[in-house]
Amino acid sequence: MAKYKVTFIPGDGIGPEVANSARRCIKATGVDIEFEEVIAGPEALEKTGELLPKLVLDSITKNKTAIKGPITTPVGSGFRSINVALRKSLDLYACVRPCKSYPGVRSRYQNIDLVVVRENTEDLYAGIEFEVNQKSTRELIEKINALSKSVIRQDSGLSIKPMSISGTERIVKFAFEYALAHKRRKVTAVHKANIMKHTDGLFLKVAREVALKYENKVEFEDRIVDNMCMQLVQKPEIYDVLVLPNLYGDIISDLCAGLVGGLGVAPGANIGERGALFEATHGSAPKYKGKNKVSPVAMILSGVLMLEHLKEEKLARILEQAVAEVIKEGKFVTYDFKESRDDPTAVGTKEMTDAIIKKVKEKL
Ligand code: NAD
Repeated sequence: MAKYKVTFIPGDGIGPEVANSARRCIKATGVDIEFEEVIAGPEALEKTGELLPKLVLDSITKNKTAIKGPITTPVGSGFRSINVALRKSLDLYACVRPCKSYPGVRSRYQNIDLVVVRENTEDLYAGIEFEVNQKSTRELIEKINALSKSVIRQDSGLSIKPMSISGTERIVKFAFEYALAHKRRKVTAVHKANIMKHTDGLFLKVAREVALKYENKVEFEDRIVDNMCMQLVQKPEIYDVLVLPNLYGDIISDLCAGLVGGLGVAPGANIGERGALFEATHGSAPKYKGKNKVSPVAMILSGVLMLEHLKEEKLARILEQAVAEVIKEGKFVTYDFKESRDDPTAVGTKEMTDAIIKKVKEKL
């Protein structure tokens, strides 16, 4: 029996191409993994009548680790997103997005090495919404106006922002444990506690309490989110691990991906007590489907995060170095690493993957 069994979800659009690239690279490290392939999304809907078959959740729950290609969110199906549904069903509360500069990637900045830890289950993103002019919305507006003596206009829509002590405790603890495990020096909590005292204010209070338990091990500080945006653009090098509520995490993780060269190089992980799901930040880019065109790097770096999570640190570093060297040499890279998008010397997804695998084998 293999040392690890990992659920493999190819996804759709460019998903199968980049997910297979990641699987080939992971296998090339020689790690003893058996991949259990299951399908979710439009392909699953066609074959099984369900977008997210129970088999997928069962497989991840059993294996505890999964790697997934991007999945298209069908428009107008009433389904918010399979990706969001997976995170919710498995309570994958921590979204981890390392943003690191790799020489050779086109970017305005160099030497960036940030990790964004985003809370995945609460906040305005929890999806508790009331549509304008509905009966329940009017009732809620009346109730709030009476209870809080505020004046919400009758023709308002509402989104509720729940943030809990327990939800904050576990995400901040996660950020500190991540910092310790990855030898990071500092955690910065990001909030708007000066204005939203009972949600972001609670987040900050709880974050400070959790930080006390890590005193003398990992430094702690906090920043107001608007100021954080400015500082990340002006002096990103002074930050290390950032921990944020869901909505700010969503926005800041894209800002940080932009600092290091964009979606093509941004890996991600969604982690909870019941399992961990590794996936690129980018989506299924349907217009490039089957064209052997896009960068496999974000997906392969998600595989690096998976190897780290499995405590295969040495193999994770070998794979990451192989990716870094291929990017730096700039010879076997996809169009998005080139100055001009039409550069005829750009190679395809498969050829870039082959070059990375060759490097991995040289290093073993
Ligand atoms: P997208 O990330 O799929 O594509 C936007 C653009 O980014 C592409 O046109 C392409 O130019 C570039 N890009 C994306 N991946 C790239 C890669 N690997 N290499 C080079 N360039 C790359 O975003 P979108 O068009 O907004 O979304 C398409 C679909 O993907 C939607 O249905 C969306 O819901 C879904 N989506 C899924 C996930 C996920 O599975 N986690 C995440 C985001 C979006």
